[in-house]
Amino acid sequence: MSEPSYRLPQQRRIVTALPGPVSLSLAGRRDAVVSAGVASSSPCYVVGADGGILVDADGNQLIDLGAGIAVTTVGASAPAVVAAVAQAAANFTHTCFMVSPYESYVRVCELLAAKTPGTFAKKSALFNSGSEAVENAVKIARRATGRDAVVCFDHAYHGRTALAMALTAKQAPYKSGFGPFPGEVYRMPMNYPFREPAPIGGVEAALRAINQIEIQIGADHLSSILIEPIQGEGGFIVPSEGFLPTLAAWCRANDVVLIADEVQTGFCRTGRWFACEYEGVEPDLICTAKGIAGGLPLSAVTGRAELMDAVQPGGLGGTYGGNPIACAAAVAAIETMTDLKLADRALRIGEIITEVLGPLLGSVATVGELRGRGAMQAIEFVKPGTWEPNPAVAKAVAATCLAQGVLVLTCGTWGNIVRLLPPLVIGEELLRDGLEVLAEAIQQHS
Ligand SMILES: *Cc1c(COP(=O)(O)O)cnc(C)c1O
Repeated sequence: MSEPSYRLPQQRRIVTALPGPVSLSLAGRRDAVVSAGVASSSPCYVVGADGGILVDADGNQLIDLGAGIAVTTVGASAPAVVAAVAQAAANFTHTCFMVSPYESYVRVCELLAAKTPGTFAKKSALFNSGSEAVENAVKIARRATGRDAVVCFDHAYHGRTALAMALTAKQAPYKSGFGPFPGEVYRMPMNYPFREPAPIGGVEAALRAINQIEIQIGADHLSSILIEPIQGEGGFIVPSEGFLPTLAAWCRANDVVLIADEVQTGFCRTGRWFACEYEGVEPDLICTAKGIAGGLPLSAVTGRAELMDAVQPGGLGGTYGGNPIACAAAVAAIETMTDLKLADRALRIGEIITEVLGPLLGSVATVGELRGRGAMQAIEFVKPGTWEPNPAVAKAVAATCLAQGVLVLTCGTWGNIVRLLPPLVIGEELLRDGLEVLAEAIQQHS
């Protein structure tokens, strides 16, 4: 197994107040011209990123435990990706695959067919963002089944475009004031083990949702069930064993398309190529984006050939979908994942996170749960002695970490969760340094 190589020193180093003077002056320029609707977690403007390090404009080196929201799985300047991007750009930047096709698009689809779960014949279509992949998966499911309704779940996050936003559960900030929303979207109860009012198994929780689906919609009207195998933005919610396979079996029996949104969980993040593999679930369609191309904007819908081919020629596409630079980056990123065995590294990262943060559960009263798979782990904060969400602590912990040069993201329906999504090429020493800072911050805010 090859080891990652780094261009930048893999060390946390704070040399100014955070943000430093250069970042502050950029913030001033930003205020004048960037929409207030676009917010940033960190005030530090980046000039370089590599491995597990972000370098800001003032020369500070921060530990990156967010990977640009699970995107820079192979690092933010992985050598193979950088070389592939440079070569592709030198050859041609764009032709539009719908006008003049090229090989790298086909290669990405071959890799997707090989890597995604299921041994049946698969085809793909490429797009630019996770939201676009989700929208297109629903279009394909509707076209293939001739039915309108789509089921999504409580706590789901599927993106910010009109249909994706309608499928997303959380009102503020994603939906507030942005309606009206597309119709035929039905939201069902998720299995959120930490927050179930009474103990319930995964199978039972799936049957609870299926019962509602049958009552409120009926399989005859339902095109698809859309689900994140581990919910991301909603709080790194891992449903109990049996939940996903039971939904999958019901879909199969009723000719309903099962769409797995693996935009955040895909490409080695959870310790497998795809999170569905943990329970042997083979979705009919799978949406990927984020980690797919080493930071370049690319997304895909991959699925059963007969579904993907049910769409009339010209029914799918877009000017930039499957851009040649992004496709070249994806081929290099996927090769890097294989060479560096990044799924195994994700498992190891998960073990280290559990080792460092595990002792806080039970000893710090605000820590309600530590959960996740592989390098997708989260801490849910509660008010001591209750299940009441504690967003104030999550926010304070993230702020304390940042002040010490460790970037962590928050998430969750109540904003009470700190999530860890380090680049999978992060070195063990750097990871441990970041986690120690986090552990201290959690103790400090208990
Ligand atoms: C981020 C995300 C999306 C949306 O992807 P964008 O590229 O931001 O449009 C959709 N689904 C899931 C699960 C995500 O995490």
